[in-house]
Amino acid sequence: MGKILVTGGAGYIGSHVVKALGEKGYDILVYDNLSTGHEWAVLHGDLVVGDIRDRGRLDQVLDKYEVDAVMHFAAHIVVPESVQEPLKYYMNNVGGSLTLLQALQEHGVDKFIFSSSAAVYGIPEEIPVRESAPLQAINPYGETKAMVEKVLEDMAYAGSMNYVALRYFNVAGADPEGRIGEGKEDATHLITMCVRTAAGLRPEMSIFGDDYPTSDGTCVRDYIHVEDLAEAHILALQYLLQNGESQVFNCGYGRGFSVLEVVEAARKATGVDFPVRMAPRREGDPPALVADSSKLQSHLGWRPQHDDLQHIIATAWNWETRGRTRE
Ligand code: UDP
Repeated sequence: MGKILVTGGAGYIGSHVVKALGEKGYDILVYDNLSTGHEWAVLHGDLVVGDIRDRGRLDQVLDKYEVDAVMHFAAHIVVPESVQEPLKYYMNNVGGSLTLLQALQEHGVDKFIFSSSAAVYGIPEEIPVRESAPLQAINPYGETKAMVEKVLEDMAYAGSMNYVALRYFNVAGADPEGRIGEGKEDATHLITMCVRTAAGLRPEMSIFGDDYPTSDGTCVRDYIHVEDLAEAHILALQYLLQNGESQVFNCGYGRGFSVLEVVEAARKATGVDFPVRMAPRREGDPPALVADSSKLQSHLGWRPQHDDLQHIIATAWNWETRGRTRE
């Protein structure tokens, strides 16, 4: 049995998947440039510091180790930033992925799990959204994910790669034991902002837009606990290792919460009535994104264990207030 190469394994989602892989006894090699990830987040396996755009470094790793499959998390992930700095996103998320895929193809590695995103759907016509919905991203971040999916689809057709693309909805929460969690000081995601404001790390937080066509005017998202998402990766890996054919799966719970509902839940979960203010819409935000994840459940047998907004927020709160090491 060879190694599982995990790009971006020192980042928020990658590190939770590395934890889950380690607990299952997989031999893990994390490849991360530590631009936003942290060495402390890698609880299992070895860490190689390298960039996905660095073909020489990738070749070194692939020459040295036998790799059975790759999980590719390394990417820039902030939607508004992608609108402001598109080239940064295309260079890293698309260019870096192509460099990685080329290196893998030349080394005969043909199993690949890709971190895709609900952002590929843009503004879906139907909610909850199914995998068969048209891909019509409305921001560069979503475009980069759709582009890499297309490359993978074409490689799979050509017989040079078997892949699973997991389209993440809104990933949140932390290791319930508080060992790992969101490590970025400048993280922008809603639940992180809520718990950091509740913890007094920020004076207040903003709600970006209350004039969307939703029940209370704020955006609706499907928040999935990072541990349930990690489990989806384990199932996808087992599936590919058993020679399953290429597939795309949505990863979410199929339930939407508005920004205001999340804020209320966070006030309850933390016991802190933290201040929020209304702010203008943020660029690139679709009004509502909710997953139909029945395919993940029926094809891979995925069964969520943490499907509770209060619990998701509580694990993030525990991480921010008790677990987190600040550098
Ligand atoms: N949001 C907000 N205030 C914040 C952070 C996010 O109102 O401080 C909103 C954001 O506009 C979006 C939703 O919360 O409607 C989820 O945003 P997030 O950045 O968490 O994830 P995204 O859906 O962009 O991947």
